[in-house]
This record gives sequence, structure tokens and C-alpha cells, in this order.
Amino acid sequence: MLTKIICKIFGHKYRVSKVFSPYERKVTCDRCNQAWGMNDSIRMFIPWDGELESMHSFLDSLDHPLSMDREARGVEGTRTV
Ligand SMILES: [Zn+2]
Repeated sequence: MLTKIICKIFGHKYRVSKVFSPYERKVTCDRCNQAWGMNDSIRMFIPWDGELESMHSFLDSLDHPLSMDREARGVEGTRTV
């Protein structure tokens, strides 16, 4: 609860937690653990919810072309936004 107040005042401590493609990623706040889906191509930044989670799980199961080379880009997972 207190962490959410700190985030409201000072802003979130964003960290890329998962990279789906060069322009699509999941961003998490290290402080309050909130998550967002970020897409540069359509300038989207929305709260990560169950719907978004299941969509990406579905794309993963299809071996979605945008998910290719994700392992190779794993280093980006620790990058600070
Ligand atoms: Zn936060």
C-alpha cells in the first residue's frame, strides 16, 4: 500500500520484464509490482491484465513470429526504461 503511494509521488520504477518483439514488451514496476503492456508501433501503454497475459500466452503457443529470438534478447530484460 505504501509502495503505491511512493510510486504516485515519485513515479514508478520501470523495468522491462519481458520482451516480445523489438517494439513490444512487458514493463513491471520494481516497487509496487504493477505491470503494463507496451507497444511502440501503436504507442500503447496499458495495464497488464489477464486478457493481455492470455493473449501473449496464446501467441507463445503458436510460436508467433514476433516472439522469435526472444532468448537472444533476454539481456534486454534487465534494462531500465
Ligand atoms: Zn510502481
